[in-house]
Amino acid sequence: MLADTKTPWQTYASAWLNAQAQVVFLSTPLQGFLFLVALSLFSPWGAAGMALGALMALFICAFVLRQHPLEWRNGFNLFDGAVIGLLWAGLLSRDMQSAILLAMAIAACYAMRFKLVSTAYSYGFPSLGVASLVTLWAAIYVTLYFGGDFWSMRMRSEPGTLSMCLAGMCLLAAMLLQNVRAALFALAGSGLAALLFYFAQDYPPPVGSTIVLGFTVFLVLFSLPATLLPGHAKAYPMAALAGLVTLGLELAWPHVNTLSSVPSLMAPMFLGIWVVFAFFKIEHRLIFLDPGVQALAKHLQEASSQGGAVVLTGAGISTASGIPDYTRGDWLEAGVPLATYNYAGFVHNRYSRLMYWNSCFRFLKTASQAQANPAHLTLTALQQAGFVTTVITQNVDGLHQKAGTEGTVELHGNIDHVHCLLCGASKTWPEPASWQHSDTFCECGGFLKPAVIAFGEDISLTTWVQAQQAVSTCSVMLVIGTQAAVTSALALIEQARQRQVPCFFIMPGYPACVLTANDRLLFYKAESLLPALADYLGLSKAKP
Ligand SMILES: [Zn+2]
Repeated sequence: MLADTKTPWQTYASAWLNAQAQVVFLSTPLQGFLFLVALSLFSPWGAAGMALGALMALFICAFVLRQHPLEWRNGFNLFDGAVIGLLWAGLLSRDMQSAILLAMAIAACYAMRFKLVSTAYSYGFPSLGVASLVTLWAAIYVTLYFGGDFWSMRMRSEPGTLSMCLAGMCLLAAMLLQNVRAALFALAGSGLAALLFYFAQDYPPPVGSTIVLGFTVFLVLFSLPATLLPGHAKAYPMAALAGLVTLGLELAWPHVNTLSSVPSLMAPMFLGIWVVFAFFKIEHRLIFLDPGVQALAKHLQEASSQGGAVVLTGAGISTASGIPDYTRGDWLEAGVPLATYNYAGFVHNRYSRLMYWNSCFRFLKTASQAQANPAHLTLTALQQAGFVTTVITQNVDGLHQKAGTEGTVELHGNIDHVHCLLCGASKTWPEPASWQHSDTFCECGGFLKPAVIAFGEDISLTTWVQAQQAVSTCSVMLVIGTQAAVTSALALIEQARQRQVPCFFIMPGYPACVLTANDRLLFYKAESLLPALADYLGLSKAKP
């Protein structure tokens, strides 16, 4: 784990600002601050409520629920409090004691939040502000039931044109800091939606509700490409669809009898976004929501114009094809000491040679029947699309070639042929009888040996140079299904790290090497993550 250089107060302050940034799908303290300023100019009581709500949520998460700072410091667990506080503005403006009710509402929200969030997540949907929405509906209902007024604001004056413009500029600046393209796209789309809303009705609606509608559509259009699905190939068309759904629901809401008594709040926005997520396969939806996967997708997209990705694979990628772990020796004869299989043993000892040939032959039979799995096929698709330049593998099963990957660098050779230790000639496998009863030789008199690296044998210089050249130009490295316990794999990872190239480790467990600041762990099996990643990047299946 990386050391955190922030003091506790800095951590609290940035978490508090992050929570407010999250209300509008932003993510940094600066963006949160800009949003807070914008809201202060537009609705001072709303800003005060949001700041107070975020503070209460921070107190609950950090001191009552005693969550780890990793859980709340990015603001993700806190923004429900900020949202409730924001909409509490009317009550707060008329009676400061309603701050106590606000604290109670936020406490209730956090009592049920975990359940709601995990339920949404188990179906592969972002939870968004569903906990705050449920809390607010309940609060509004209770207020109305007792004859109270939830909304009306005690305000000296409406915000002037100047403050409105300043507020808009602050908010737009925050949005542009997050993602320029998404912000401009959302601005154009929401402007269009607001015009439609204003002029398409028989009686023009109040300017206030037109602004609220435009803002809701803006958030939908912005959220998908900027925050929820960054780098997704179809993020913009999906956002447009979600925007249309949201607009439709907002227009229909007052006309549905059962709904017209409750305010829509942000419900149409959530539904619009969820409709988009419903289009993805459930296992892909869950993977799409992982920020680590989103970062990898972003790096791959940048890599296609910057030098490309190099992929280093190990046994884990072939497990789903039924291949034993070559570097760990899972394919060797049980009960025979590992030292028997040393390269020196092979050269000097007839018994070692017999054991080595027998074990390799068993491995060959397994490998020749094995089929490439979705992970191998996806790497080929990523290569064909220009994201991946080179696949370097520690495996000897030849499955990358079977899947159609071009120019695979096989660090440990390939089990599908044998070679001469003296002249290097490559040959097809001899009949088992030829090694079982005596030694088998090349025409030149040298020993024949399966063309895979034995323990203690050096990787061929040509292969090693190819691998190093590939790593020397890459802009991102994927380490898939290998613990990186072998010196050669570690040397290649180290070479990438020295160039400040980010390394993504994809495997269900931890690698054996020490991690650095640029490394990222994605705890997935390659055969489930890679197809989802290809889907994210908008690729179709490989054509082997
Ligand atoms: Zn020879």
